[in-house]
Parts: sequence; C-alpha cells; structure tokens
Amino acid sequence: MRIAHIGIAVKNAEVALQLYRDLGLEPDHTEVVESQKVKTVHIPIGDSSIELLESTSPEGVIARFIEKRGEGIHHIAIEVPNIEESLTRLKEEGYRLIDETPRRGAGNMLIAFIHPKSTNGVLLELCQRAD
Ligand code: ZN
Repeated sequence: MRIAHIGIAVKNAEVALQLYRDLGLEPDHTEVVESQKVKTVHIPIGDSSIELLESTSPEGVIARFIEKRGEGIHHIAIEVPNIEESLTRLKEEGYRLIDETPRRGAGNMLIAFIHPKSTNGVLLELCQRAD
C-alpha cells in the first residue's frame, strides 16, 4: 500500500499550481470529474502525488468545503490492493462509510470515501487501480 495522493481544496488550481512549479514539479494530468463537480490537477511527487481540487460549480462538494473551512487539505488517499475487501472489513468493524461500494474517480481509479467521523477528522479515500 502507499499514500496515493493528498487532495487539496483550492479556489483556483492554475494559481495554486504555481507553488509546485516553483518547486520544480509539473502536473501530468488534469481531469474534470463531472459527478463530483470537480477539476483535478495531478502533480506526481515520487511514489505519490498532490491532487489539486477546484470546484466546477458553486454547489460542488469542494466549493462547500472551502466555504466552511477555507482552502486546505481535503483528503488523504491510500491505495489498497483490494478496495471491496477493505470496505467490507471496515464496515464490519463499525466504521462509517460514505461509499459502501467503490465508484469511478479521476485517473482510472476505483475510489471510496470513509467518513471523517470515523477517521479522526481527516477524510480518507481508499483507491485501487481500475485496470
Ligand atoms: Zn482523491
């Protein structure tokens, strides 16, 4: 397993990207996830990446997050070998799941979120390559 990425909620991904460019990093992938009303900018760093999250609508989850808490870390994504198995195990242990079954996220990944009430306040995303 590994930290797949750290998702950061930003008002403007192009503006936020400058910091990473100034550090010598470049994004390799930008994608709009229509179902989440979010534009993601994926910046690889070693074995993981930073995922900038910009809302494409004032009603989107990222827009609402920024309204409530300001820009900042939105979630941490852990890549697991078998996402279904991980979800089943966490559910059995009584963790609160936002997604009971995996759905399609950015970068051809299956993803599922665990509720921050079950994870010490940090929204946790599990992911697995969909290939
Ligand atoms: Zn993510």
